[in-house]
Amino acid sequence: METKSILIENGTLITPKDESIKTAKNMSVLIENDKITEISNKISKSCVDKVICGKGKIIMPSIVNTHTHVSMSLFRGLADDLELNSWLSEYIWPMESKLDREIVYHGAMLSNIEMIRSGTTTFNDMYFLMEDVGNAAIDSGIRGCLSHGMIDFGDYDKRKNEIKSALKLLKYCKGKNRLKGFLGPHSPITASEELLLQSRKMANKYGVGLHVHVSETKKEVDDILDAKNMRPFQYLDDIGFLSEDVVAAHCVWLSDKEIDIIKAHDVKVSYNPSSNMKLSSGIAPIHELLAKKVSVSLGTDGSASNNNLDMFEEIKIGSLLQKVHVSNPMALSAEESFKLITINGAKALGLNDEIGSIEIGKKADIILFDTLSPNLTPNTNSLISHLIYSGNGSNVDTTICNGKILMENKQLKVLNEKDIIEKANNVNQKLKK
Ligand SMILES: [Zn+2]
Repeated sequence: METKSILIENGTLITPKDESIKTAKNMSVLIENDKITEISNKISKSCVDKVICGKGKIIMPSIVNTHTHVSMSLFRGLADDLELNSWLSEYIWPMESKLDREIVYHGAMLSNIEMIRSGTTTFNDMYFLMEDVGNAAIDSGIRGCLSHGMIDFGDYDKRKNEIKSALKLLKYCKGKNRLKGFLGPHSPITASEELLLQSRKMANKYGVGLHVHVSETKKEVDDILDAKNMRPFQYLDDIGFLSEDVVAAHCVWLSDKEIDIIKAHDVKVSYNPSSNMKLSSGIAPIHELLAKKVSVSLGTDGSASNNNLDMFEEIKIGSLLQKVHVSNPMALSAEESFKLITINGAKALGLNDEIGSIEIGKKADIILFDTLSPNLTPNTNSLISHLIYSGNGSNVDTTICNGKILMENKQLKVLNEKDIIEKANNVNQKLKK
């Protein structure tokens, strides 16, 4: 019989609350079905189906990763230490031409166990054959925001086909618990003005968000300057593409004027520090964006350019990079970092009424972070420092999504890890020549 009520007892609760972070010791959280129904230091144990001991553990919202290509986990380690253009044209694109439904599904499943193990239960993904990424999310018990990456390079027939695939995906996502459809014009370089405009139109018509890569490299900015005589965000503003429903990944090369444009339209920025460092793309001006109160969240990008999905590792790298970037150790503080990986991620995906913090009435997307580990000792009052600067994904002990326990005591409850790793290694053979 499925567990209907779960009591997480006596842990240290850390959650975004209003504009700050709330920390409270000896707190218990009651989950009934898929929702959080009580948060208190005295909840009766009687009448609950399951009790989880929170002693020595942090109770916090599950992590939200706002930019992924989960099926690319199968490309992990196959092409490293390369410049972006040769990385793409000589390695990634030839491998992607061999993709099929089986590869996409098993690549996504591999990422899903990695995400569950490291505390992520919501991801924002752009790729191809996305129905299989959706099927993998359904089978894994996590939340997925899914967009078909539309690339037309100005070609009418390609555009028609891409739009068809995108609409098919929206239809597939409709009514499915834990899935949300997005539209994904790939970037202002790979998607023509017509495709960007049609994407905006469809987003308005169907009430869905837009997921796009913007200003990842300096070359992209130069190419748009050459073609349009405007920088990328000026161009996107000029054609009426920007709005609060846009999740823009990377945003590395921004002028001050573009930061004002992003703020004016309440565009959601997804910061991808590891990928930007590994491909030597540059440093996104997150300190400057946050100073202007832009909503910034965090993404790993695909595992071909990261090379993992550990959001705790990612936020530490992201925070340290900002401190170096502006020569200021106060840049991207631990508290601000915590918001990036929780509530800001939820806001970016339009899910902040449901997830991103631990509050009564919200969905039970909760993780337990084990502090009884050498890298998290000594016991301190500033646990948030431990979370951001000392911890990593392997300190996650328990992962719950939508009220369902996906991992407990570091043991996966829904998925068969051995089987998924074996299948991933098998389908990976198809990608090699
Ligand atoms: Zn990407």
